[in-house]
Amino acid sequence: MGVIHESTVEEIAANLARVQQRMADAAARAGRDPAEITLVAVSKTHPFEAIQAALATGQHDFGENRIEELWEKVERAQILGLDDRIRWHMIGTIQSRKTKQVVGPFVLVHSVDRVKIANRLSRDAQAAGHVMSVLLEVNVSGEASKHGFQPEALLAALPELAQLPGIHIQGLMTMAPFVDDEVVLRRVFRETRLLHDRAQDAHPDLDLRQLSMGMSHDFEIAIEEGATIVRVGTAIFGSREY
Ligand SMILES: *Cc1c(COP(=O)(O)O)cnc(C)c1O
Repeated sequence: MGVIHESTVEEIAANLARVQQRMADAAARAGRDPAEITLVAVSKTHPFEAIQAALATGQHDFGENRIEELWEKVERAQILGLDDRIRWHMIGTIQSRKTKQVVGPFVLVHSVDRVKIANRLSRDAQAAGHVMSVLLEVNVSGEASKHGFQPEALLAALPELAQLPGIHIQGLMTMAPFVDDEVVLRRVFRETRLLHDRAQDAHPDLDLRQLSMGMSHDFEIAIEEGATIVRVGTAIFGSREY
């Protein structure tokens, strides 16, 4: 992970300010309080210096999608004494043989997409004496390429998942299809919120306060439709070179 230029540091600060303004405008359009919406800066593939640049502007929530890279950055933060200023989010697909690695100092795991992952993560968290806060990833668009619970499967599994001692379910997460059609995007976000409301109604014992949806190209629509967390990478850190 290399060093970044001063101009990049300034760009990240300017991009963050722009994204926050756009979030506030979207919240205002929907009559919502912007303070109830968390921006997770998705730093995947970017060097740690990019995180430091964002941290310097007061951004504290960061998301990574690969567990190995997340741990590298957590360890770097610990070495630099920055770990108590950063709230780490695991947002990427979890492989069932790697659930043990997903037990760690992360505020939220967004991507529990199957009963098997929930069971294993709970088991591994419990063994480590932890309870992990998680979101259940849903696939309301029905795209075969997308991970996540189908809506009816989620509602059916929830009673069982709610009993798991090593995870604390805080809400739902979705990834919209990668399209420009605002009508399609809005429908996906709205259906996710309606599913969220149904799940909450069916389980008054759970506190499903979070709805993680919206990325660089659609976070404003997601906020208008009820997102409480948006996950934004490119619009803050620039494009990724894989
Ligand atoms: C990469 C990623 C994002 C951010 O995507 P951008 O389009 O760069 O904003 C959000 N959520 C998940 C799960 C991701 O993997």
